[in-house]
Amino acid sequence: MGKETGLVDVHVHPPTKEFLIDAGGEHVQVAARKFGHSIQLKTFDQMLDEYTEAGVDRLVLFAWDAETTTQRPRVTNEFVSKVADQHPDRIVGFASIDPHKRSAVEELDHAVRDLKLHGLKLHPQVQAFEPNDEKYYAIYSKCVELDVPITFHTGATYWGAGLAGGGGVKLRFSDPMLLDDVAADFPQLKIIMAHPGWPWQDEQLAIAMHKENVYIDLSGWSPKHFQPLLVAYMTKLIPQKFLFGTDYPMLSPQRWLEDFKQLNVSSEVRKMVLGENARRLLRL
Ligand SMILES: [Zn+2]
Repeated sequence: MGKETGLVDVHVHPPTKEFLIDAGGEHVQVAARKFGHSIQLKTFDQMLDEYTEAGVDRLVLFAWDAETTTQRPRVTNEFVSKVADQHPDRIVGFASIDPHKRSAVEELDHAVRDLKLHGLKLHPQVQAFEPNDEKYYAIYSKCVELDVPITFHTGATYWGAGLAGGGGVKLRFSDPMLLDDVAADFPQLKIIMAHPGWPWQDEQLAIAMHKENVYIDLSGWSPKHFQPLLVAYMTKLIPQKFLFGTDYPMLSPQRWLEDFKQLNVSSEVRKMVLGENARRLLRL
């Protein structure tokens, strides 16, 4: 196999204090321990060196705004835009907005038009909202107008894991079935369901199969732990719907790609999942 090019990681958080300490606090530390390590702060240059080492050209970097529910500072869209501007050939920025803020739609407009961010990331569990509530439909209309995709966290989360009441986090907000409603009501909206959607894996696969405008990013799980049905959908049924992602710094690109090699995936599907699908979706 020759050297692969054009790899894109579609799910990356800043490895700097803005996310790991200020916005994430103890929740991110708990998550890191579940992944078997403690999080160390890194600079963006160190991060990019790791990506170069792993043979990954580009990555999608997320802002974060859950101020209403977490009372913690955000990773601003301005911050992500600045980092992306410094590395235009490597980093694609995604905005975040807090759906509870009156200014949410306006901030999204500003983030895409002025700050040149390429998409939106939302986390219904941590942000505590039902994504199929029509209250939030103005956000989706704006994404259609701006022609940018939305990544939604789906499946379980380590945020609040092990705490009394899960720290108040309700898992059902990230049931992919809620996004099936959104995908049906906004056929022009590109939706990326982040992570293998356990404990709703089957539902997630059914939606990706049924809705042309819905994708799955494979972040947050080592490919070693992918369920057989997920692998079957990726390799045989709808390979065009799956996107390589790590959830860096929780998982490193080296480790994810190493584990992905152990799966029985044709070189054609490999190319699609590791880069082609993302490049088409994000128009890179
Ligand atoms: Zn993530």
